Amino acid sequence: MTTDCIFCKIVNGSIPSKIIFEDEDVIVFNDIKPINPIHFLIVPRVHIDSLAACDVQHQALLGKMLLLAPKLAKEQGLIGFRTMINTGREGGQEVFHIHVHVFGGGEQLPKL
Ligand code: 5GP
Ligand code: ZN
Repeated sequence: MTTDCIFCKIVNGSIPSKIIFEDEDVIVFNDIKPINPIHFLIVPRVHIDSLAACDVQHQALLGKMLLLAPKLAKEQGLIGFRTMINTGREGGQEVFHIHVHVFGGGEQLPKL
């Protein structure tokens, strides 16, 4: 738990969220400002600032987070989806607690 981290507060339940999956390592909830009809965030319970703060000790956790993406996307009715990890302010990161965005549904996503 890091004071003033929004996602740590969601993890400990002091800020409500629409949780779609949780276990001992991760919590997954809908993004408050979805950019597509389905948009959820895969978040580790442990506070890690960003992908740039990860090292080999986080390998299994990162793998678990990525493997949850297709499983939960399918459960949410998505056939195709996009994953995104914004890293650092220059990378568009706003919440400095690592998370994987998963989104899709509706129109085909534009090519990047
Ligand atoms: P980032 O820009 O850091 O990759 O993404 C942060 C995401 O968290 C944004 O898409 C934003 O809408 C979402 N977000 C920020 N605050 C909250 C919140 O309090 N609850 C939920 N569910 N999502 C949030
Ligand atoms: Zn945090």
